[in-house]
Amino acid sequence: MLNQKILQLAPEEQIYHPNLSFSARANVRDAQIYERAGANFEEFWAEEAQKLHWFRPWDKVLEWQSPFAQWFVGGKINACYNCIDRHLEGWRRNKAAIIFEGEPGDQLVLTYQDLYREVTKFANVLLGMGITKGDPVTIYMPMIPQVVIAMLACARIGAPHSLVFGGFSSEALRDRINDAESKVVVTADGVWRRGKSIPLKQNVDTAVAECPSVQKVVVVQRTGAETQMDADRDVWYHDVMKAAPSGCKPEIMDAEDILFILYTSGTTGRPKGIVHTTGGYLTAVASTHRNIFDLKEEDVYWCTADVGWITGHSYLVYGPLANGTTVMLFEGAPDYPERDRFWEVIEKYKVSLFYTAPTAIRLFMKWGEEWTNKRDLSSLRLLGSVGEPINPEAWLWYHKNIGKENCPIVDTWWQTETGSVMVAPLPGITPTKPGSATMPMPGVSVDVVDEMGEPVERGGTGYLVITKPWPSMLRTVYKDPQRYADTYWSRFEGMYFTGDGARKDEDGYIWVQGRVDDVINVSGHRIGTAEVESALVEHPAVAEAAVIGRKHELKGQAVSAFVTLREGIAWAPELEKDLKSHVAKKIGGLARPEEIICAWELPKTRSGKIMRRLLRDIAEGRVLGDTSTLADPTVVKQLLNQKTAL
Ligand code: ATP
Ligand code: MG
Repeated sequence: MLNQKILQLAPEEQIYHPNLSFSARANVRDAQIYERAGANFEEFWAEEAQKLHWFRPWDKVLEWQSPFAQWFVGGKINACYNCIDRHLEGWRRNKAAIIFEGEPGDQLVLTYQDLYREVTKFANVLLGMGITKGDPVTIYMPMIPQVVIAMLACARIGAPHSLVFGGFSSEALRDRINDAESKVVVTADGVWRRGKSIPLKQNVDTAVAECPSVQKVVVVQRTGAETQMDADRDVWYHDVMKAAPSGCKPEIMDAEDILFILYTSGTTGRPKGIVHTTGGYLTAVASTHRNIFDLKEEDVYWCTADVGWITGHSYLVYGPLANGTTVMLFEGAPDYPERDRFWEVIEKYKVSLFYTAPTAIRLFMKWGEEWTNKRDLSSLRLLGSVGEPINPEAWLWYHKNIGKENCPIVDTWWQTETGSVMVAPLPGITPTKPGSATMPMPGVSVDVVDEMGEPVERGGTGYLVITKPWPSMLRTVYKDPQRYADTYWSRFEGMYFTGDGARKDEDGYIWVQGRVDDVINVSGHRIGTAEVESALVEHPAVAEAAVIGRKHELKGQAVSAFVTLREGIAWAPELEKDLKSHVAKKIGGLARPEEIICAWELPKTRSGKIMRRLLRDIAEGRVLGDTSTLADPTVVKQLLNQKTAL
């Protein structure tokens, strides 16, 4: 294949072995875990489930009637109880559960005991509003402690939560509230963003005007901005909390009762309401969080994802708190007041485990090392990445400048639908290769298959699939089981189709190549977007790149590239030529971009993922598809103006 044309061994093709002192102390030290879990995945997951608190044990580990799964059938459990109550018996009661720093620099620490008090009080508030088991509550909030409190309060009383990212518009919010038919919405007056108070409650007012189900809106006072309150409908959080008693019995939930609904990022189209249930989900997120991040009692763990995304649900709230972790919660932006804010947070709170996204890493690269060198990052001992394929160049930069060549990097591949990480290294035992998420987690069966659903040989490329059910799998699309079956289980018989393309290398390592919809076909040769983009990002002038295939009379498709440049670099025709030949040299002549457009920004979702489908629409002069999840609409407008370049 194209990849094999690379002749010399570049740094990103080297293998990075876990360092010995890390391995010696790692939570998982025995590589047999893969085989053991593979031999009997139900038994493996049952063992992991035992580490949680159950009110009643399950009768059967898995009931599988493809494509519908039930895990831990008959088991009774409560996610909130597992995240709080069981930590209260010993000294952990006074351990910091959440260390919060707001954008203006305000701080708050909540111990597990504090969290218990706040969560049970808010659970009583919700009960008082008539919310009972099975009533979805919509949460539209900034990254403040009350968002975690609200989520856990819902879990405590069995009300599924539906979080809507605070950066979404009132229309996006309205559609999600209506889909869930929530009676209660929890929000805040506003959110701090780069020194300004951005109103949130106003969006809720606009949305709720078209949401007949909503009876109450609870408003947390965050910025103190002037806020209209509807006397019948709206209440202040601090008022209702004053009156609420603490202590609230956890609802005894069935393992298969809904824990939450969450809509996907909308990178490829209209978001889907993904349904996750309680027992299997909590088992998998707690287990993977412990193993992938090598969690130790004394760690300070920081996941920069917004709580409104699945990463925030699984690895900011449920996984870490189920494991009794000290979680860093940060409200602000990485460049406010200065471009070293993240590094300042790490230095100040001695963060030891850090989990972020390639889009952020590329931004830090663009800004340069001046900012990372300003701060002491020596508390870090492990780094994680999630959200998109990480370009080898970005991986190496992360390794060198943040990890100081001393921290393993865990590149974690997963989706809203999978609930927990599916493909990632175990940091104490799995050698890593920059740009590869390595291998499936123990107990998870992932493969790369061809058009016919046959596994490809090592060295081959194809479709990434999951071949056996797993505990945190989505159970359905909310109120639309048909869409669930069609979207995920119809492409290949008996397999879950991820929508992503991947390569399986000679060692069996998995390299996610990007969305299958984005794969480019030049004269019958399939070219993954990730590889070409990584080649471009490797060039010292390029900060970020997105490539697409656009219609071409002779070749079928031609590669079009969009790039943003590193600071201080100017666009010039020679640079374009240089970039084209760089790609050709690195990957092969077929991958040489037909044209390269220098953009000021790339269109991204609110979660920071590049939306290639919009670039394709622009390149081929089509009406733009769904843009409701776009982070910054002006980016697309600017690109449309530049379209004459094509
Ligand atoms: P939609 O399904 O609505 O288009 P989305 O797929 O962006 O939105 P998410 O569930 O947030 O919504 O993202 C999952 C996707 O993100 C994966 O399918 C994959 O394409 C990409 N992804 C996540 N982590 C990684 C990773 N470590 N390496 C490569 N790709 C990743
Ligand atoms: Mg998706």
